Amino acid sequence: MSLPEFKLLRPQTLEEAVGYLAKHASNIRVLAGGTDLIPSMRQRLFEPEYVLDIRHVAELKGIRQGPEVEIGALTPLTAIEHSEFLRQHYPVLAEAAATVASPLLRNMGTIGGNICLDTRCLWYNQSLTWRKGCGFCIKKDGDLCHVAPGGSKCWAVFSGDTPPALLCLDAQIEIASSTRVRRIPLREFYTGIGDSYRRLEANELVTRVFLPAASADYRGVYRKLRIRGSIDYPLAGVAVALKRSNGHVTDARLAITAVNPSPMLIKGAAHMLEGKAVDALLAEAVGDVAAKTAKPLTTSALTPEYRREMIRVFTKRAVLAAANS
Ligand SMILES: Cc1cc2nc3c(=O)[nH]c(=O)nc-3n(C[C@H](O)[C@H](O)[C@H](O)COP(=O)(O)OP(=O)(O)OC[C@H]3O[C@@H](n4cnc5c(N)ncnc54)[C@H](O)[C@@H]3O)c2cc1C
Ligand code: SF4
Repeated sequence: MSLPEFKLLRPQTLEEAVGYLAKHASNIRVLAGGTDLIPSMRQRLFEPEYVLDIRHVAELKGIRQGPEVEIGALTPLTAIEHSEFLRQHYPVLAEAAATVASPLLRNMGTIGGNICLDTRCLWYNQSLTWRKGCGFCIKKDGDLCHVAPGGSKCWAVFSGDTPPALLCLDAQIEIASSTRVRRIPLREFYTGIGDSYRRLEANELVTRVFLPAASADYRGVYRKLRIRGSIDYPLAGVAVALKRSNGHVTDARLAITAVNPSPMLIKGAAHMLEGKAVDALLAEAVGDVAAKTAKPLTTSALTPEYRREMIRVFTKRAVLAAANS
């Protein structure tokens, strides 16, 4: 499949990049690693007039330690996976990054691209010919949903691996445009709506991720379901970060991905775990709560029932692994 025609813009600085975004906001797409954008453009899901290739903006690369940890949006997932500092102090993030796609894709793919990743659906991530044959849907060019016929909402699924880990770490993101820089908790970035899944204006760029010092040194585990272990997007994913003292949990965070239109923190998990010594019964009870929060539909090749069940199973295993590590 060939790429549609577009004009390539290659800024060298952040100022130049947001300037281009301001000028062409109505018809532009940001390219970071391009590992998701380029296949989507080949499938004619996006046909922007301009592509903003930000790969040469050096100030958006790298992991900086300080009172809080700062990760540039252009930092490759490989750098996060292999960072000794992150592996030691923020293990859930390094572990989640290590499960994304394949080594080659992690060399190209960035943390900013992973956070901004488009939602996915069996009926959407297809060629133009395929989509035309089946009938276009709400997310692109149509007005019906094949997954929930009769409804007017798109349920395409957020399928990134690092955002649930970042949610567990209480991460914030910085967003820049030519007129302002804002900083928000990552949990406020996602909308829960498949076809407008992120709160990002067309003239804005995600520039940095911040990890608070208070989230350091939590035991962390990430578990994911996928068809091919070596390369696939998650079809269900669970991240857990917890702290223990004297064998009892003092704080816990749990988040799921790939089963809803946004990655989600599981409310109530912390309350269930805090002050307790974790055993199989308790881990199973937390798994039940996570499975109730998961709302998988027929957006992928695996059945919703199986994906929900795997959220239950992975939550139990992840909680036990984090508590016993
Ligand atoms: C075969 C295959 C398997 C994959 N498996 C996985 C997987 O297991 N887990 C997973 O999480 N992902 C997977 N991916 C998707 C992708 O490789 C990763 O999500 C990667 O992190 C995307 O980063 P990128 O820099 O390449 O993003 P790009 O493709 O460059 O961009 C992705 C989206 O984010 C936007 N964007 C990128 N950076 C910014 C920014 N700084 N500010 C604003 N918008 C931005 C782009 O405009 C685009 O809409 C897979 C992809 C392929 C092709
Ligand atoms: S959930 Fe429905 S509207 Fe959304 S991409 Fe899938 S088929 Fe289209």
